[in-house]
Amino acid sequence: MIDVNYIRQQFPILNRKVNGNPLVYFDNGATTQKPKRVIDSIVNYYSELNSNIHRGVHTLSREMTIEYENARIAVQKFINATYAHEIVFTKGTTDSINLVASSFSRAFLKPGDEIIVSEMEHHSNFLPWQNLRDEKGISMKVIPLTKEGELNMEAYKKLLSPKTKLVAIAHVSNSLGLVNPLEEIISEAKKHGAKVLIDGAQAVPHLRVDVQKLGADFYVFSMHKLYGPTGMGVLFAKEELLEAMPPYQYGGGIIKSVTIEKTEWADLPNKFEAGTPNIEGGPATKAALHFVNEVGMGNIAAYEHELLTYCSDQLGMIEEVEVYGNIKNKAGVISFNIKKTHPFDTGTLLDNMGIAVRTGHHCTQPLMRHLGIPGTVRASFAVYNTKEEIDIFINGVKKAVKMLL
Ligand code: PMP
Repeated sequence: MIDVNYIRQQFPILNRKVNGNPLVYFDNGATTQKPKRVIDSIVNYYSELNSNIHRGVHTLSREMTIEYENARIAVQKFINATYAHEIVFTKGTTDSINLVASSFSRAFLKPGDEIIVSEMEHHSNFLPWQNLRDEKGISMKVIPLTKEGELNMEAYKKLLSPKTKLVAIAHVSNSLGLVNPLEEIISEAKKHGAKVLIDGAQAVPHLRVDVQKLGADFYVFSMHKLYGPTGMGVLFAKEELLEAMPPYQYGGGIIKSVTIEKTEWADLPNKFEAGTPNIEGGPATKAALHFVNEVGMGNIAAYEHELLTYCSDQLGMIEEVEVYGNIKNKAGVISFNIKKTHPFDTGTLLDNMGIAVRTGHHCTQPLMRHLGIPGTVRASFAVYNTKEEIDIFINGVKKAVKMLL
């Protein structure tokens, strides 16, 4: 059980008006709003702790280094990684995937090797692999989708072969909210000795994730979609892989020693964190996870499921609306269009009513092509949303239907 009023009080932005109406924020898939403790942690950092980390002997630097490393431990516990040094901080999901594409490929891939992705991937989990194909001669195979937009698992199994070195797949689709069958995806990949990267950007805000139980080799996400700061991403990778992979970027902080002849890399995870990081993102990450843990991931999942079902049922009753990805196993997201209209028009009308939704292709153009549409209107939920807001939204969609048709 959650106390949504108590939760809402913690998010200052929810008090503001947009176009004369109370804000209804249903664009959580793009980024969530931040609770006060996250905002305060950033103010506190610049008021009390500002210093560079990891290399200072002075008090501020030492204190802040401990704070930053505590954030890593908080992430480790949140996803149940074996070691804190299996958590690499990056700029976000995109940065984490680019790190793996660059570094894993240099350590493990040669021309002719194969990577498998799917047709539903966010461009962030598509373009880095396509680029490896075009620049390095690595083959990229794409799992096709069913009519509803689910992965065609039979086709996936046929794509796997001893040449498959990596399967890179979303945990939850950002455009349709479909939850992919990771257990089967991972166990099939392992039969062929392939590594698996899971794009968890849209999963960690809605589901409990245990990377040890999953058995994923890489799991990536962005803190800004999880009530945390922008510029703070997570790459979880198994220790033995990180040990075998070369640095992604080169610069300060990643070395044990440098001579003109040669460099010895620092221990994990520092080898992958060149340069000054998003320092204030450390305490802000810790504060965001503190918020999530306090509410409870199980409670968040159950409550959001209620919201999703409530909203889907009502949207489904509007004859002029087409809902995409209409299957049971979904998290956080509903995608739809008012038939025969463009999603931008619906989005603009809803915005006039103070309702924030996302419209367009959601950085998944191959998926949109598969569905035969230019884009969708996407409503995505967070734990501070309410059924009353859904009622306002449904009324808004009905008004938009009247105005557009
Ligand atoms: N993958 C998925 C599934 C996403 O939803 C997003 C964000 N829309 C990304 C990757 C990219 O995340 P970021 O922009 O935080 O790097």
